[in-house]
Amino acid sequence: MALSGLEIYKHLPKSNCKECGVATCLAFAMKVASGQASLEGCPRLDEKGKTALGEAGAPPQSLISFGANGYGFEIGQETVLYRHEDKFYHPTAISVCINDSLDNAILEQRCKELSAIAFDRMGKTSVVDMLALVNASKDTARFAEAARLAAASFPRSLALLSPDPTALRAAGEAVAARRPLLWALCTGSNPEAFFKVAEDLRLPLCIEAPGFEALAGLADQARVSGLKDLVLSPGPVSSQEGCAFLTQSRRAAITKKFRSLGYPVAMMAMDEDPLRATVDACWYILKYAGIVVANLTRPEHILALAATRQDIYTNPQIPVQVPAGLHEVGDPGPDAPVLVTTNFALSYYSVESEISSARIPAYILAVDTEGTSVLTAWAAEKLTGATTAEALAKARAAEKAGHKKVIIPGLVSVLSGSIKEESGWDVIVGPREASGLVSFLKANWRS
Ligand code: SF4
Repeated sequence: MALSGLEIYKHLPKSNCKECGVATCLAFAMKVASGQASLEGCPRLDEKGKTALGEAGAPPQSLISFGANGYGFEIGQETVLYRHEDKFYHPTAISVCINDSLDNAILEQRCKELSAIAFDRMGKTSVVDMLALVNASKDTARFAEAARLAAASFPRSLALLSPDPTALRAAGEAVAARRPLLWALCTGSNPEAFFKVAEDLRLPLCIEAPGFEALAGLADQARVSGLKDLVLSPGPVSSQEGCAFLTQSRRAAITKKFRSLGYPVAMMAMDEDPLRATVDACWYILKYAGIVVANLTRPEHILALAATRQDIYTNPQIPVQVPAGLHEVGDPGPDAPVLVTTNFALSYYSVESEISSARIPAYILAVDTEGTSVLTAWAAEKLTGATTAEALAKARAAEKAGHKKVIIPGLVSVLSGSIKEESGWDVIVGPREASGLVSFLKANWRS
C-alpha cells in the first residue's frame, strides 16, 4: 500500500541538508509520496530506513535516462493517468529509425538530415531526440560500424535495436560513451544473454515480448538479475493493440502499483504509409508512450509528432505564457507599428506568426494578463485601459517606437477610449482576428 508523506518523513534523517535537491526532508517525503521522487534521491537514508520503507517508497513508474554530452533524455516516473489530475512530467522521446544495411554515405547523410530538423513552436524548439539504429544487416561488425557512424553524425540520443545479444554488445561497446538505449528485439527467446550485455555495459535496456504476462514476467526476471533501468515494448502490434497496451500498462502501474509494469513503454510506428505511421505515432504519444520510434523522414510528419507532444506535456493548470513587455519582431525602427495583445502564448504567437511571416517589422506589447487570452482578460478586467497604459509606460514604448499610436485587437474595441485617456496614446482599432493583421497594416499603417 502507498505510504503518505508523513509516514515516509518519519524514516528520513530530518537533517534538511538539501542533498536530494529539495529544501527540506518533509518536502522530499511529499515528493516521494506523490511518485515524483524515489528514496534513492536521499543519500543519507540509512539501511534501517530503507528496510522500513522498502518498495512502498519507490515511485510507481521508474525514471529511465539515456544519452550523454549535454543530450541526456529522461522518460517515465509519471504519476497520473490524466493530465488534469497533475501534469505529465517527462515528454515522449521522438525517435526515427534507420537501418544499418544502408550504404555509409547514405546513412551519414540521413543522420545529418535528421539532426538538422528543428521546429520552433510556442516559444519552444522541438527536435528528433533519438536515432534508432536497427540491425537489419544481421551482421555484428556492420552493426558496430554503423553505430559509430550514426554517433558521429547525430549528436543526440541513440537506441540500438537487434535480436542478437552479440551484435548488441558490439554496437553498445562501440558507442558506450554516448549511453545508448539497448533494445533487445524478441527478448523472450534469450533474455539472460541480453540482461548480461546491459549489466556489463551498464546501459538501459528495452525488453520486448508480446502481451502483459510475458512482458511482466521478463521485467521481474530482469529485476531479479539486478537490472533496474528497463523500458518495456510489446513489439510489433497494430495501433489498436498498441493503444490498449499503453493504457492498461499505465493503469496497472499507477493505480494498482503493479511493479512488474512500472516502467516506461516504447512503441514502434512502422507503417509503410507515412501518414498512417504519423497517426499511429501521435496516438502513442497521447496514450503515454515514453519513446516512439517511427519510420518517418519528412519534417512535416515529424512536426505532427512534436506538436502533439508539446500540447499534451504542457501543464494544464498553468496557461502557457510569454514574458510580458514589449517584444521586437524583425528589426523595428522608429515608426514601426505597436500592436497590443496579452501574454497568453497562443494569443501572442497568433500575432507574431502573422507579422513575422509577412516580414513586417513591428513591436508587440504583451500585456500581463496572467496568461489569459484577449477576451478572457478583458472580461476579467485584466486587459483594461489602465493595465495597457501601465505596460506601455513600463516598456518605454513611446521612446522606442518614436510615436504614440497603438493598435488594439478589434475584439476589445470598447477599450479604445479608456486606453487613450489613461495613456495619452492614439488608439487604432485593428482587426478582430490576427489573420487580418497583415492586410490591415498594409491598408492602414503609414510610418
Ligand atoms: S537528502 Fe535526505 S536528509 Fe537531506 S534534505 Fe533530502 S531527504 Fe533530508
